[in-house]
Amino acid sequence: MEKLAIYGGYAVRQGKIYYGRQWVDEDDVQAVASVLKSDLITCGPKVDELERTLCEFTGAKYAVAVNSGTSALHCATIAAGVVSGDEVITTPITFAASANCVLYCGAKPVFADINPETYNIDPESIKSHITEHTKAVIAVDFTGQAVEIEKIREICKEHNLIFIEDAAHSIATKYNGQQVGSLADMTCFSFHPVKTITGGEGGAILTNNEDLYKKLILAHSHGITHDDAMMEESPHEGPWYYEQISLGYNYRLTDFQAALITSQISKIDRFRNRRQEIVRRYDEAFSKIPELFVQKEIPESDSCRHLYIINLRLDKLSCTRREFFDAMSAENVQCQIHYIPVYWFPYYQHLGYKRGLCPNAEEMYKGIMSIPLYPKMSDEDVEDVIHAVKKVIANYRK
Ligand SMILES: *Cc1c(COP(=O)(O)O)cnc(C)c1O
Repeated sequence: MEKLAIYGGYAVRQGKIYYGRQWVDEDDVQAVASVLKSDLITCGPKVDELERTLCEFTGAKYAVAVNSGTSALHCATIAAGVVSGDEVITTPITFAASANCVLYCGAKPVFADINPETYNIDPESIKSHITEHTKAVIAVDFTGQAVEIEKIREICKEHNLIFIEDAAHSIATKYNGQQVGSLADMTCFSFHPVKTITGGEGGAILTNNEDLYKKLILAHSHGITHDDAMMEESPHEGPWYYEQISLGYNYRLTDFQAALITSQISKIDRFRNRRQEIVRRYDEAFSKIPELFVQKEIPESDSCRHLYIINLRLDKLSCTRREFFDAMSAENVQCQIHYIPVYWFPYYQHLGYKRGLCPNAEEMYKGIMSIPLYPKMSDEDVEDVIHAVKKVIANYRK
């Protein structure tokens, strides 16, 4: 068995084209180094600058930088007021964090099914899962394609729900010409190294709502405030005084990571253009192969794709997905599967979730495979991947 190293949540095999990786230049390194030589290395001016930059980039009024996409989601569920007894609707085709953040609040994740062609959460399925306990919807822009924002916004408005957009995959995606980031009540980004831009780790929550913003600030830093207007003892004793007014966490981002993320944002157009170029090339190569299904996109989404998924029509192939995956690996192309339906995990099964909950998601899961997509891929890498896919299909064609 090949030795596989698991670092920071993703597996690395040497010498292969992996499904995703960061692009860090010398000027990114310099941005980090200059912070390390300064006085403030956590939560200083570079975090402020990143928050301003994110607001400028997305058009959102407020941004709170945090130390991961997962903490961004946790802060958002806290700010949404999600507590024990509440339900939050999300998709099973996502990274576990999109549902775990609901469990962190003692509430219940409810899984709505996906659209079998776009793979994003189906607004009709959201509707059918709303109960008197539903507090919020966490919709994931899966692979970087925006969810049906307009419809979800309407559903949330009608039922008085908070709309949280998990945009871990979709920074730099536009919906009807507008940047993702100010279109839901709160939008969460991740800056993990496989995502479009990185800080090593990192995340952010964006909102236009001042009330939610204040709650996000408290949630990400111990529930402590330095704002006189929010304090109970006011006037208070002196300039050193602060108050803890709720229960929060330490989810702060370091200043050197903030500097890295800000530096990466300056390259985001280049990253987006290159990702789009590769996606177009893949679409062209794969859309007419009868053994594959390629994800459909809604016209409203001008996507900066994080993932490219081929869906194997296993009825037309004489192999299992595992055999296909291994054959790709033998061609030096390291694929990955995004994602195992969240409620299939043992932890969720022990909580009582049953297989069969979301038939479209389970059906889609059977054949999917993410092939490499990252801006630093050369044209040669892209052609190598296409060649490998075609070769493996030809070997297993029925
Ligand atoms: C990566 C990811 C997260 C979590 O982000 P981290 O920064 O790794 O904590 C949440 N949701 C989705 C859809 C993701 O892909």
